[in-house]
This record gives sequence, C-alpha cells and structure tokens, in this order.
Amino acid sequence: MDSPSEIARETLRQLALQKVPPTPDKYRELYFKIRGTPDEEIFPVHMLGAIAQALPRSTPAAQRNARSFEEAVSKAQWPLLKQAILDFCVTRSDEQKPWATLIRELITQFERRHDKLTLARKREALSHVLDANPKPDILYNRLNALVNEWSQSGGGAKGIETRLPGDSSAEAIEIAEAAEIAEQGVPLETPMRLLLSKLLADGIIPLAGDDELIVKEARALSNELLDTEGDLTNSSFVSRFERLVIHMERSGVEHLAVREALLDLLRLIIENIQELVIDDSWLHGQLKAISDIFAGPLSLRALDDVGQQLRDVIDKQSRLKRELAEAQDLLKEMLAGFVDHLAEVTVHTGDYHDLLSRSVRRISEATNIADLSEVVGELLHGTRLTQETAHRTGQELIELRERVDAANREIERLQHELDAASRLVRHDPLTGVLNRKGLSEAMTREVSRARRKGAPLCVALIDIDNFKKFNDVYGHSTGDDALRHLTSTVTETLRPQDVVARYGGEEFIILLPDTPPETANTILVRLQRELTKRIFCAPDSERLLITFSAGIALLAPDEDPEEAIARADEAMYAAKRAGKNRVLTAA
Ligand code: GH3
Ligand code: MG
Ligand code: MG
Repeated sequence: MDSPSEIARETLRQLALQKVPPTPDKYRELYFKIRGTPDEEIFPVHMLGAIAQALPRSTPAAQRNARSFEEAVSKAQWPLLKQAILDFCVTRSDEQKPWATLIRELITQFERRHDKLTLARKREALSHVLDANPKPDILYNRLNALVNEWSQSGGGAKGIETRLPGDSSAEAIEIAEAAEIAEQGVPLETPMRLLLSKLLADGIIPLAGDDELIVKEARALSNELLDTEGDLTNSSFVSRFERLVIHMERSGVEHLAVREALLDLLRLIIENIQELVIDDSWLHGQLKAISDIFAGPLSLRALDDVGQQLRDVIDKQSRLKRELAEAQDLLKEMLAGFVDHLAEVTVHTGDYHDLLSRSVRRISEATNIADLSEVVGELLHGTRLTQETAHRTGQELIELRERVDAANREIERLQHELDAASRLVRHDPLTGVLNRKGLSEAMTREVSRARRKGAPLCVALIDIDNFKKFNDVYGHSTGDDALRHLTSTVTETLRPQDVVARYGGEEFIILLPDTPPETANTILVRLQRELTKRIFCAPDSERLLITFSAGIALLAPDEDPEEAIARADEAMYAAKRAGKNRVLTAA
C-alpha cells in the first residue's frame, strides 16, 4: 500500500470501523500509522509563520532572508524553507564579527574616555549585562549593543587615554593606536588638536628644560596642529611625534639618573659634615635631623624641609661666629686699652716718684727760699699731673669695666642661644615635645630608673585618626595647628613626670613611669575625654574633633624598650582595625 490515495482510503475505512470521529488530527495520526512512517511530512504553517514574523529585519540582507522564509512557509515548501534557513545562517555568520573582535572593541571602548560617559557608568552597564547571565547569543548582542552605544557616546572619537605616566605598555598601546589612526587616515578632531597642541606647548616644553631638540620639535608640532587644517595623521606628523616621544623617554631616564646622583651627593655632603663636626653637638644634632628626613620617602615637602633646616643651620652658625668674633675683638681692644692706661699710670707714678726723690734731695740741698719755692712749684705741678692722670685712668677704667660687663652679657646671651639650639636637637620644632633623639635619652633614663626601683613603666603609642583626610580637607597648616593642639592638650593633661615625644608625623609616644597598664589605660581615656572638651578650633573658627587610637605596653623585666614600642604599635593598629578612637593594651 504505497499510493497515498490507497492509504487514505484505508485510513477512512479504519476510522469508520473503529467508530472514531474523523477529525483531521485522528485522520493524520492513523494515516501515518498505516503508512508506517513518522508524522514528518506535515508542514506546520502556523508555527513557521510565527517564526517568520519574529525574524530580524535590521539589515537589507536580513530582510531578504526573512522574505524568502515567509515565501517558503506560504508555499509550504520544505526545500525552499531549508534554503532560506541556510541563507539566514550564512548571512548571520557573515554579519557577526568574531567574539575576540567584540571583546577587543569592548575593552577599547571601556578604557577610552568619553565626554558624556563616566567609567563608573560603563562599569555599571557592563555589570548589568553580565549579571543577567544571558545565553551566549543574547550576551553577544547585548555586548555588541554596549560597544555601539559607547563608541557613539561623546562623539565616539578617539579620546585621551587616562593612563599613568611611565606605564610603558600603555605608551606602546598609545603609539600603536596613533599608528592605527595614521593607517586608517582618521582625521584628528578639533578639540583633540587644541588639547594636543596645548599639551605640547604648556606641558612638554616646560618639562624639557634645556633640551633644545624637544623644545624645538614640540613647538613645531604644536604650531602645526594649530595651523594645518587638513588631515595630519597621513602626513609625516605622526612619525615625527613618535620620534619626539622616544626622545623624551630617553631624556626622562637621564633626568632621573641626574636627580638621583644629585641627591646622593647631597646625602654624602651632609653625612661628611656630620663626621667632621665633633665639638658642635647642637650642629651635629641639626644635621642628624636632616639625615632623618632623607631616610624617609622624598617628596617636595621633605626636600623643602631639608633646605629650610640647612638654611637655619647655616644662618645660625654664621651669626654666632660673627657675634663671637665681635665680642672677642672688643675684649682684645679693651685689654689693649687697659694695658696702655696702666702703662701711662705707671709712667706717671714713676715720674712722680722721681720728682719726689729729686725734690727731697733738692730740699735738703736748698740754701734759700727761692730754691725751695721752685721745688714746691715743681712738686705742685707734678702732683697735679699725677692726680689728673690717676683721675682720668680711674674714669676710663670704670668705662672699660662697663664695656667688659656688656661683652660678658652678650656672651651669656650667645650661650643661651646655643643652649636653645641644642634643645632643638632633642625637641620637635613644630610641637615642642621631645623628638626621637630626646625620646631615646628619656627612655634610657626612665627604663633604668624603673628597673632600679622595680616600678612599672608603660609605653603608649598614639596615632591620630584619619589625619591624612584632615590635611586634605583643611590644609596642611591647619593640620600643623591640630598637631600643636594635641600635644599641648597631652602635656597639660598628663603628670609632670610623664614623657611625651613625637615618634613620627602624627604618631606620639608617651612614657608613663610608675604606672601599671590599667592606670595607663585610664590616663589615656582621660586624655581622649579632654580632647572632646578642648575642641580644636580651625582658623576659620570651625570646631573640629581630633581623635586618636592608642596602644599601651607594659615594659617587661628584660625587654628591649624598642620591643615594648613595637608591642604598643601592634596594639595601636588593633585599635585602628577595631574602628579607631579607642585604646587597647598589648598582651
Ligand atoms: P589612620 O586613621 O589609619 O591613622 O589614617 P591616617 O590618615 O591618620 O594615617 P596615614 O598614615 O595614612 O596618614 C598620616 C598623615 O599625617 C599623612 C601626612 O600628610 C600627615 N602628616 C604627617 N606629618 C605631618 C605634619 O607634620 N603636619 C601635617 N599637617 N600633617 C602631617
Ligand atoms: Mg600614622
Ligand atoms: Mg593616623
């Protein structure tokens, strides 16, 4: 039974025999059962029509495909439908760029700066797509849509890359991109031209120093960008720019080396002066302070501090030298004067003695009153002369003595100044509390005293909370005021025997003699409370609360004091981690 009409007839007969209502579905089911093949020949017009409706028509090729598909469905022709589907697949794979290309485009657009699109917005959009975890083809379409949207945002032009200087791979990409622009012949847009020209003129030239080649070429390229209207990227402009970049890279490396060498030289000089200065302990201390600044990371501020301190040292030293030399000259002058006067007095007194013995002799030899009267006249004259000299000498001696006293006072003043300078060696100039050197001496003293007496000694380390932000918001100078405010509160709140020292930028060490840890904790909590009471007023009279985190360590019997400081530091960091503005004691 091969012919369809025979199968159809048998199907109808069976339906009648089985008393099944001859609905199209029942008929079809029985028909294929009798024919012995699966029900595949049926053409699902309805379903396929719905698919044809949903087919994309965004491009002319897609529209053509959709029309072929519709036609195949309306004619219920499997071969046509098959062809339409194959065409569709081919077109789709032709249209679609590879995943790798899409990802590369996505990265490029993600990294590129857009006028109207922030990085955060881009990240958010991307997360949105990825978080939905769509099927690959949908993911592809959505990512593609993102790329299209981003590339059209902010003019879609090649923007300025936000890369860190010195990132050579980033520079390589930039150069490659510049070359790509050149290859594609994409003209630079006007805002880019202006920016690039400004970058060359105002950014590169001032940095170039005396490198004439860079200055000349950067100026020429900058002018060219402004003067030439046409497409520069196809001219020699890009290769000249590339050469400039390479030259600048080399010159930058050289500059860095010179800078390092200069700093080394400066360090060497300072260290050597320190070695040479043996007697002037105050100067020694100043130089040590400068070396300490060098030990930290170098910033403009640190260099500025070094310069300032060196200038102070030089200034103070030359002033002291001058004043001491003046005082010495004065003393010399006075001594010379004194010797002269003494000699004069001695001469006069000697003359007077001669006169007296001569007069005695002449008196004894005198034979008449006229002789005597002459002797008396000589005597009177000699006595008056001697008296005058003695009087003058007396006056001058009084004046000399006054001048000696004044010189003594001056020397005393200089001595005080020297003492103050040597105080600076032990004290932090900003806050007036001890510096590290001062702390080290105080620590040695307190540790041996505590061990001798068997008394407990606590070391506390305090660190101001969020001080970097404080400086950023209110400025460095207000930050300095805040540091002074803190130290004056600390020194006024603590007992006279407690020692306060600046340990680092905004870190302080407090030594608490005769104090067990519980009491040390109470003292520091009191200090915290005191800071909330004596609130710090910024110069614009804003009231600002300064808080700190602190760690306390009790010096163990054989412990190195540095160890105790390290334990206090650990406890302080634990206080920071626990939320700051608190005091913790080391185990
Ligand atoms: P934390 O709460 O974790 O301690 O944060 P912080 O910001 O206080 O700590 P960080 O160590 O990051 O910053 C310390 C800041 O202290 C950085 C520096 O600008 C500032 N600083 C250090 N020395 C001085 C100084 O002499 N004067 C001023 N104004 N600020 C200083
Ligand atoms: Mg700190
Ligand atoms: Mg801090």
